[in-house]
Amino acid sequence: ERRPAEAEQERTARRTVFDAQGRTRLPGVSVRSEGQAPTGDPATDEAYDGLGLTHGLFLEVYGRDSLDARGLPLLATVHYGQRYDNAFWDGDQMVFGDGDGVIFGRFTASLDVIAHELAHGVTQYTSGLAYRGQPGALNEHISDVFGVLVVQHSRGQTAAEADWLIGADLLLPGVQGKALRSMIEPGTAYDDPRLGRDPQPAHMDDFVVTTADYGGVHINSGIPSRAFVLAALELGGYAWERAGQIWFDTITADIAADCDFATFAALTAAAAERRFGSGSPEHRAVLHAWAAVGVMQQQPDAGDGEGGQPGGESDDQRPDGQVPEGDLSEAEVLVQRTGGLAGIVKENRVRLDELDDEDARAWKRLLTGPELRAAARAEPAAGADRFWYRVCCDEPEVDVEVPEPALAEPTLDLLERTLDAAD
Ligand SMILES: [Zn+2]
Repeated sequence: ERRPAEAEQERTARRTVFDAQGRTRLPGVSVRSEGQAPTGDPATDEAYDGLGLTHGLFLEVYGRDSLDARGLPLLATVHYGQRYDNAFWDGDQMVFGDGDGVIFGRFTASLDVIAHELAHGVTQYTSGLAYRGQPGALNEHISDVFGVLVVQHSRGQTAAEADWLIGADLLLPGVQGKALRSMIEPGTAYDDPRLGRDPQPAHMDDFVVTTADYGGVHINSGIPSRAFVLAALELGGYAWERAGQIWFDTITADIAADCDFATFAALTAAAAERRFGSGSPEHRAVLHAWAAVGVMQQQPDAGDGEGGQPGGESDDQRPDGQVPEGDLSEAEVLVQRTGGLAGIVKENRVRLDELDDEDARAWKRLLTGPELRAAARAEPAAGADRFWYRVCCDEPEVDVEVPEPALAEPTLDLLERTLDAAD
């Protein structure tokens, strides 16, 4: 542990970890606050330590006291929901699930994931990058950058020594993969029969246009992330010192919420020039890196993947979906879940008569009622790393995409049970 400089004595982290005790009400019961001894619960203590190490990087290296630069208290909830396969930032605090115990263990197990969620808070208080399409992928990218920098800083690792992996400690034994994402080799983190294959591109030529996952925010982040790693490797030494400083300068300077990849690349080059000089090794490394991933040659709107509006409403002419319920027992629904911190696709197709009676009835109400379509039109919620659901049915005809925060809890529970239902 580093000793904070005297002038920083007052600027220590103000952490509180809460326990949701398997429920989804936030924040839950306070279980450890600043200065208190370890509890013995790994999730609680990992969250507490991770918040401290993240606060430490931003304060000691970049002189920023917490997410808002004004000492904002850091709040985290652990044991959220039942076998909840995600960690997210809700606009006010971090939230960590315990994982399903099959593919994912607890989401506090990877320090980079804790730091990733906190960095979403930094983005919220600085650039405010929109959580959709290219600015959303930059938002994700920035969280991955500071996520790994917290790990490298805490371990004293150079750019060459670091593994540049996100979530390596979340995957349980038996999963064919090394992590959720690889910033150094996007697209190679996993290839597993249950998870599918890591969908991240490493170059603009492979930019993925999709409406899933808020417009592919966890997918296309691979492109800027590889650029960051290439710049850090060209510079050598500790990545947080020069590459990280340039990225920090970029997100805390004048940057628009709808910034795209090309604009962001130009801003990082300008930040490198400001701090290190035009034509400096730092400036050149940044230019080389963005050229290597095909961003610098692009026009600002090229490869724009802000694929359409949420919800697939365009081909749905019905008003608020008053469809007669009738006998829908043979109706077949497809539920697809994307996004989340992991950005992994999970889907299942079931006939309603394969479900238990209560869930079949709930589906009939959902397919014929207004909730899904209303949720698809909901204003974007604050925060990051929430799930994104698509629900499709041929008869009655439904094809909607809905962000997790727009759905009521019983509906979310139904979607999750359906994803897990055997067919
Ligand atoms: Zn994220």
